Formats: sequence, structure tokens, C-alpha cells
Amino acid sequence: METNIEGVYAAGDNRVKYLRQIATCVGDGATAAVAAERYISELDDFERDVLQAGDKVILYFFNAYQSETIAYGTLLEEANQMSGYPQRVVKVDTATRKVLAQKYGVTAVPAALLLEKGERAGELKAADKSALAREIAAFAAGE
Ligand SMILES: Cc1cc2nc3c(=O)[nH]c(=O)nc-3n(C[C@H](O)[C@H](O)[C@H](O)COP(=O)(O)OP(=O)(O)OC[C@H]3O[C@@H](n4cnc5c(N)ncnc54)[C@H](O)[C@@H]3O)c2cc1C
Repeated sequence: METNIEGVYAAGDNRVKYLRQIATCVGDGATAAVAAERYISELDDFERDVLQAGDKVILYFFNAYQSETIAYGTLLEEANQMSGYPQRVVKVDTATRKVLAQKYGVTAVPAALLLEKGERAGELKAADKSALAREIAAFAAGE
């Protein structure tokens, strides 16, 4: 029910759909309402966990429709543990959070930004696990 405008959802006859009837409109409405509620909840979580957080955060942008970006997320989690100084990882799906990706200048995924007190402090560049772990450890140490 998502539209091309983030946070705006469509339901009912105004959608391109196979069957325009009360039953399908009611289903659309239920899905759109839950999706809208989750969107608002995610905004609140992001505000609390990233923007207002006093500590360091790895902001990981992926796309749920691109399996390689999900695989990189797993690699990132493993490297984070391997670093010995695991940082908090907040995942952002660019398939649904386009505006957020634009706000952080993310044009390609996967992308892992380093944030400190809500401000961008760098980006993880490494492609293999050991190198990623070293980058995370350096971020933790403030290097
Ligand atoms: C003749 C006919 C018979 C039908 N028979 C059946 C049936 O037997 N069984 C069945 O399940 N379905 C039937 N349907 C389909 C069903 O009516 C629609 O699928 C359903 O009403 C769509 O609901 P909706 O809320 O998406 O849109 P609508 O019911 O069309 O509601 C949209 C509302 O938005 C308002 N609106 C539009 N623009 C604006 C604006 N700019 N600002 C504020 N308000 C605005 C409109 O006035 C309207 O009240 C029939 C449809 C028709 C036309």
C-alpha cells in the first residue's frame, strides 16, 4: 500500500488492482493502517535510537529486494562481534525509507555509516570480515 511519497499509503479503488470491491478495499485499508502505524513507530525508534542516542551507532542501509545487501548485513554483524568492541547496528531498508537514505546521502547499497551522537562520523569501506572488524574497532576507539 506504499506510495512513492514516504509515509503516505493508498487503499481502495484508487489503487491499480485486479478486483475493485468492498472486500478488497477493506483488506487494503487494514494493511495500509498497520503499515502507517509501523512507519510512525519506526520514525520514533529512529529518533530515540539514532538521533538522540549519546553513543556510537552503525547505520546500515540495505535493500530488502537485493539479497546481496542482506548478505552484507550478516557479514557486518559477524565483523561487529569479531571486532571485540561491538557497536549498535541500526538497519534501514532503502526500499521503504528512501527519504532517510537521501538525507544521509546514500545513493547505493549496501552502505554502513558511522554515527556519533546522531552525526555522521565516517563510513565502513571494507569488503571482507577481518578488515571490517578492524574498521569497527578503530571507530570504537575513536580513531
Ligand atoms: C455501481 C457500482 C456497484 C457496485 N457494487 C458493488 C457490490 O455489489 N459489491 C462490492 O463489493 N463492490 C461494489 N462496487 C465497488 C465498491 O463500491 C467500491 O470498490 C468501493 O466503494 C471502493 O471504496 P473506496 O473507499 O476505495 O472508494 P469510494 O467508496 O469511492 O470512496 C471514496 C470517497 O472519497 C471521496 N472523495 C473523492 N475525492 C475527494 C477529495 N478530493 N476530497 C475528499 N473526498 C474525496 C468520494 O466522494 C468518496 O466518498 C460497486 C461500485 C459501483 C460503482
